[in-house]
Amino acid sequence: MSDTPSMIPAPRHFLETRIVEDLNAGKLPDGPVTRFPPEPNGFLHIGHAKSICLNFGLAQRYGGRCHLRFDDTNPEKEEQQYLDAIQEDIRWLGFNWDGPIRYTSAYFETLFEYAQHLIRNGDAYVCDLTPEQAREYRGTLKEAGRNSPFRERSVEENLQLFTDMRAGAYANGEKVLRAKIDMASPNMNMRDPILYRIRHATHHQTGDAWCNYPTYDFAHGQSDALEHITHSLCSLEFEDHRPLYDWLIAHLPVPAQPRQTEFARLELNYTITSKRKLKKLVDDAHVDSWDDPRMPTIAGMRRRGFPAAGIRKFIESAGVSRANSLTDVGMLEAAIRDDLNRTAPRAMAVLQPLRVVLENVSEEHRELLTAPAHPDDSTLGERTLPFGREILIEADDFREEANKKFKRLVLGKRVRLRNAYVIEATGVEKGPDGEISSVRATLVPDTLGADPADGVKPKGVIHWVAARDAVAATVRVYDRLFNQPQPGADSDDFIQDLNPDSLQTLKAWVEPSLAQAQAEDRFQFERLGYFVADRVLHSADAPVFNRTIALRDTWESKPA
Ligand code: ATP
Ligand code: MG
Repeated sequence: MSDTPSMIPAPRHFLETRIVEDLNAGKLPDGPVTRFPPEPNGFLHIGHAKSICLNFGLAQRYGGRCHLRFDDTNPEKEEQQYLDAIQEDIRWLGFNWDGPIRYTSAYFETLFEYAQHLIRNGDAYVCDLTPEQAREYRGTLKEAGRNSPFRERSVEENLQLFTDMRAGAYANGEKVLRAKIDMASPNMNMRDPILYRIRHATHHQTGDAWCNYPTYDFAHGQSDALEHITHSLCSLEFEDHRPLYDWLIAHLPVPAQPRQTEFARLELNYTITSKRKLKKLVDDAHVDSWDDPRMPTIAGMRRRGFPAAGIRKFIESAGVSRANSLTDVGMLEAAIRDDLNRTAPRAMAVLQPLRVVLENVSEEHRELLTAPAHPDDSTLGERTLPFGREILIEADDFREEANKKFKRLVLGKRVRLRNAYVIEATGVEKGPDGEISSVRATLVPDTLGADPADGVKPKGVIHWVAARDAVAATVRVYDRLFNQPQPGADSDDFIQDLNPDSLQTLKAWVEPSLAQAQAEDRFQFERLGYFVADRVLHSADAPVFNRTIALRDTWESKPA
């Protein structure tokens, strides 16, 4: 291998192409500097995961740095719990920000000076139009706007008014600071956009120091410049804001010239990726919390048992483009299954138990069988499966009569117990209601890892647990939160499209090795799906497992 220092990884999409060009042109002596700029007004969702993987991933791949910057310019909507959750989510996804956590609010003083700079140059003015009037003056996409009657205020008057705004002389909405650009611009964002608005609110970082706050448009590019961000990556809806981003950078004495580039947001079918709507699900108790395992939040997916590596893999395979599109959530689920299939130890659990009594096994008999934790990965070791006279199987794995397609236990027929013996059903007990309460069966001897000596082979294999040794557990079977591909598309109300069967809570029995499971340990419960010990509720005394996902995609085959 040659050790030339300029081994630049090949670009995989247009954002990387741009970085490679800049690297080759010698424009990035310290590598690319990116930032992930969440507003702390909710938990991060799968869409943010794309932005995180892009910003942190690009910096990593091309030897640069990525900052975490809280874009905290809306004090009323922001909360400390969101700041905490966002940091935890980024770390869990496998990334680390460079240097300290940054806050847009830390630049408020500088931003204020920048605004004064614009005023002094005649590039900004204080406007007294009410929001309704301002809307009317703004014009429409087809019609030019009109100049505000306050547009020609003198520099001195503007400086004084802006100082008074800061000092708290005005009520919310009474005055704003606007850039003086062009009310006839075809781009609405250039029609004298608002730079500062009055909000009498306590801020989580700056307390009561401010009552006028910069808008996203004014704060974002300047914060990028102050942090010497080289590539400011954002989603496509900011494309029309780019001329304003560039205008502000050009009109201010900023220390660097960042460039904004847009990419398409990640949107998934059967999924909501809007913090506002996710907040409604929490506030109106349609789910338990932001980290409810049904939520498409990073915290929810984590609690559901999605491995971070599977999420990263999915984001990578979904690619980066400049065209908005809807990605099939099945692709995410396939990436999760793929990861779990390789990494999750196997175990057995019975969710709807039916007792089977093996009449040729004595009450005292207790045998310890062993089974590999993973069929393809011996490094995961073995587990011990106690076996005895009474076992539990899934109720729907037994039928008194069945056709040939039913490859489980049928009265008078045989089945293999996974990792154990072949048994044959000989009778049933029924309760007063006619329901089968238990099955009588015999163990076919010498069938551990061998076919029955009489040549009558079982057709199928079912899972089981030993009744005496099984551990009681709560199992929460989750399904998709919405049953429409585009929630809200038909009814205009996404709440209407909630899947009423997204959660089923069961009292289940699990094999005793699972008593050692730690919170967040993941398993494949054989034949049932992938499960995770709940991060919050699981304990050795009261195990709680969440179903991460079924073994196969059952949605694909459902009628539309
Ligand atoms: P939401 O619409 O859910 O409220 P947002 O864009 O308001 O999201 P921010 O906290 O501002 O949320 O987002 C931080 C970063 O994540 C931004 O750079 C934004 O472009 C990006 N982002 C948000 N949603 C997505 C998405 N669905 N796909 C890709 N990037 C996204
Ligand atoms: Mg935003």
